[in-house]
Amino acid sequence: MYRHTVDYSQDRPDRRVLLNRGFFLGDLPRLVPLCRARGHKPVVDGYDSQYGDRERSRWVICDRCGVRPEPQGHLDADLWNIGQPYTGPFNPSQPTSPTVRRQLVARGFFDEGIRLPGSWPNRPTGGLGAQLIIGRSRTVGAGVKVGNAGSEQTLAAHLGLGPLGALFLHTERHGTVLQRRLNPTGYDSRIVDAAFHHGKVWWSLWARRDEHRSTDPIWQRGSANINPAHYLLGERIAEVLEETKADGTVYLPDGTSYPVTLRLEKWQRGRRRGRKFTNWSLVWDCPGGIPVRNHSWKGDNTLGGSLPIQSDAADSPQWAAVACALIAASCADDRARYGYQPAV
Ligand SMILES: [Zn+2]
Repeated sequence: MYRHTVDYSQDRPDRRVLLNRGFFLGDLPRLVPLCRARGHKPVVDGYDSQYGDRERSRWVICDRCGVRPEPQGHLDADLWNIGQPYTGPFNPSQPTSPTVRRQLVARGFFDEGIRLPGSWPNRPTGGLGAQLIIGRSRTVGAGVKVGNAGSEQTLAAHLGLGPLGALFLHTERHGTVLQRRLNPTGYDSRIVDAAFHHGKVWWSLWARRDEHRSTDPIWQRGSANINPAHYLLGERIAEVLEETKADGTVYLPDGTSYPVTLRLEKWQRGRRRGRKFTNWSLVWDCPGGIPVRNHSWKGDNTLGGSLPIQSDAADSPQWAAVACALIAASCADDRARYGYQPAV
């Protein structure tokens, strides 16, 4: 058995994180009492690639604890189906090294002795890992993961308490009993978890961890509002109440001028039955473009944009003149930021 720890707080120092440390225990004997008492239960495992016949493989695994004989065997995929009990012979005394064996099999060497599974390991081992964060963590929620046949981490769990901290746990090979029962074939890990953010709870129920498919049942993932304001005051809305259009001319400090079209938008935001906030936004277009930088492939011109505009200015009959001055100031800022040099 060996152990070590890692101090993650050095990677990204943060005053609000008091501790961020990983702990590992490796080479721990696995508890497989049933297999110790009754012996392992051999079944055929392997994969069929979707890319044709060549990518198929079969080997032997214990159906209960997931331990593989050494070597695991290289069975004929035409004769053995995945999940079928393995009733064939074992060859506990494999004379050659794994590399030599692989090379012989790759060259089509059909001596059954080489293709057969070897003996079960006497002392299967695995690892345990944890990461503890005390202080700010970026997660609020809890969940578990059941790995797949190819997972490095067989089982995993986490608890996130936001500003208080978080705890992540995982096993390597320990708990394969569960993975063999719940998720024996395929290469999709499954998760059950709940996370809280943006005023909602988001859940996954035995959902694939890394992939969404359109055929997944609808109950596997979902979300619900947990902010009381959502139910008391209604959903958040943002809408344009008024829109005014005008044409204008933007004069830049270097004496050049550009025709633009202007659109003034009055926005209202807030909850449907709650307090509303209004603000104004200026959307502008300059079809010919205003040069603000010297860039080989992005081009030199800006073709438009949107800027906030004060309500006093927006309410005034002079709004188009104010808007053109705002655009000129914004373009002058961009020129300074990009180090713009006018063409000679
Ligand atoms: Zn076993």
